[in-house]
Amino acid sequence: MIIALLGNPNSGKTTLFNQLTGSKQHVGNFPGVTVEKKEGAIRGQRNLTLVDLPGIYSLSPYTAEEVVTRDFLLVEKPEAVINIVDATNIERNLYLTLQLMEVGVPVVVALNMMDEVRANGDSIDVQKLSRNLGIPIVPISAAKNEGCDELVQRTIEVAHQKERPRGLDLCQGEVHRAVHSIAHIIEEELKATGLPARYAATKVVEGDPITLSKLNLSESQQGIVQKIVTEMEHNLGTDREAALADMRYDFIAKACKDAVKKNGNSREMQRSIRIDNVLTNKYLGIPIFLAVMLLVFYLTFNVIGQPLSDLLSTGIDWVTGLLDRALTNTGINEAVHSLLVDGVCMGVGSVLSFLPTIVTLFFFLSILEDSGYMARVAFVMDKLLRKIGLSGRSFVPMLIGFGCSVPAIMATRTLASQRDRRMTILLTPFMSCSAKLPIYATFTAAFFPDKAPLVLILLYAGGMVVGILYGLLLKSTLFRGNPVPFVMELPAYRMPSAKSVLIHMWEKAKDFLVKAFTIIFVASIVIWVLQSFDSRLMMVEDGSRSMLAGIGRFIAPIFKPLGFGEWIPATALLTGLSAKEAVVSTLAVLTNVSDVSLLPSVLADTFTPLAAASFLTFTLLYMPCFAAVAAVKRELGGAKYAVAAMAAQCAVAWIVACLVYQIGRLFIGG
Ligand code: GDP
Ligand code: MG
Repeated sequence: MIIALLGNPNSGKTTLFNQLTGSKQHVGNFPGVTVEKKEGAIRGQRNLTLVDLPGIYSLSPYTAEEVVTRDFLLVEKPEAVINIVDATNIERNLYLTLQLMEVGVPVVVALNMMDEVRANGDSIDVQKLSRNLGIPIVPISAAKNEGCDELVQRTIEVAHQKERPRGLDLCQGEVHRAVHSIAHIIEEELKATGLPARYAATKVVEGDPITLSKLNLSESQQGIVQKIVTEMEHNLGTDREAALADMRYDFIAKACKDAVKKNGNSREMQRSIRIDNVLTNKYLGIPIFLAVMLLVFYLTFNVIGQPLSDLLSTGIDWVTGLLDRALTNTGINEAVHSLLVDGVCMGVGSVLSFLPTIVTLFFFLSILEDSGYMARVAFVMDKLLRKIGLSGRSFVPMLIGFGCSVPAIMATRTLASQRDRRMTILLTPFMSCSAKLPIYATFTAAFFPDKAPLVLILLYAGGMVVGILYGLLLKSTLFRGNPVPFVMELPAYRMPSAKSVLIHMWEKAKDFLVKAFTIIFVASIVIWVLQSFDSRLMMVEDGSRSMLAGIGRFIAPIFKPLGFGEWIPATALLTGLSAKEAVVSTLAVLTNVSDVSLLPSVLADTFTPLAAASFLTFTLLYMPCFAAVAAVKRELGGAKYAVAAMAAQCAVAWIVACLVYQIGRLFIGG
């Protein structure tokens, strides 16, 4: 049996999904985190499949992800729906519930966040509310795992008995008349579509284009429908969409009147408002954001993550040394020895040692996200983004882009307009993804050891600034027009839950480890082979006569004006396209360092500090890894767009890095 989980964004769907299925999906305290449906079996109920759908406010879809949800409901027809409702915001959340009642699927309301309702001193009479609405309601707290078992039991009952919402007449007066007359008119056409009658009639009154095209009404039918709707609009003095919305909110207000007791603004809300007075202040908002990020980088690089990483690389060196001696003792073939020690251990080890840094960074970022602060940043950024023709909503994908571009590009599905969406896809890769962190960390350790947090802030902010400039360019050329208004609601500030922070860190660590032992592992072997043999497959003593050096030398001249026109950096940039971490592993393999921890000092001999700055700039901005390119292609809908986007991005990277190097030379010479 299939059970769908449906509710407004940020109402706790994913938290409940994780609780019921025992899986570890990403939970975030801002709308727009889940963009694809996820499935899982309910614990202890093997034959029950739960489907987590993207959040929606209503069944009139505006964005790509909302279409996913509505289609699932109408086409796949789940056996039952768990409608999760945020009890702290009950009236607005019930709007969707009412539409589910119109569809007539068996539905159970999971009244979530009851812990907060209690903490606020509010109360909800669940039985009365259930009677008023004519559907079963189970109070729960997904985060605290309260009431979840009862919810599952009730859902199973509802699904087995196909218990549909009691046929309360939701509408009165004019709307009622219109809905019923139209239901009559479209009776025949309805059969072919398989849509529920009540739902379809309401959608026709509302003027929903998708439903209308499915029904395919004749000219004369359309004429009659138009007449009925015009009469209703005239009698009510509002337009068709507003008429239905008013009707639904009236019904909700009546249902809640004697069941929900509230003490004005909740404590949480008041606290959030006070905090927001400072954090989203017109002048302070952006400086505070920068200060927070600086603090995060400082803690990550100077206090916690980097020292742990250094410790780990000492450990890796020790293991490598052990293996080295063991292999020497067995007297194994020279080439195999070199492959294992200089290729695999150096390559994988150089990347692996950054695991603690990355996990630490994501520890802080997930706290910021889960507390609700990141949603405020989107709000603060709205004004800035509006200048480049985007809305604050686009900040969410960009934010996810600091982790990884692939989910970030997918997250653009939450954007309502095609224009905003395409533009955001083009800008997201400029947000520095976490795979580039090992590169930054290696180079700052080599060249700017005492200024690490500053360099990191410059790089991250630099990516954003270039993104903004690029956005301005796009706005005045390809993407004229205006962004949609900003309508993201700000969630209440919440204490980040240890569980979701841990899930987040674990996800990152897992991704990173998997990459290190798959892509980086293979890339290190390939690089070692290409570097150890020449084109006649003879083993070379001197790496500069290898096949790889040949390829590197071929592309190196492109980077001459940027200050690093040698074959080693050129090759590293090339392998970086498989995964950005590979830049570091390639440098480690190619420079023949004997220990992973010695890489920075070897690099200091290969690059000048200015060339290093230019190299960092280029790696920050040039095209993302192949996985991200594939995502861009999929979401933009064509290889030619993706190729153009990547070419443009590489050009931008080249120009900016060139500026850094050439202008730098004017000031410090050399
Ligand atoms: P979704 O967008 O509907 O999938 O919502 P999420 O599952 O991502 O949750 C949104 C936010 O609400 C997260 O910060 C959760 O930690 C929080 N949350 C979810 N359920 C509860 C609950 O029962 N009580 C409280 N206090 N917070 C909750
Ligand atoms: Mg979710």
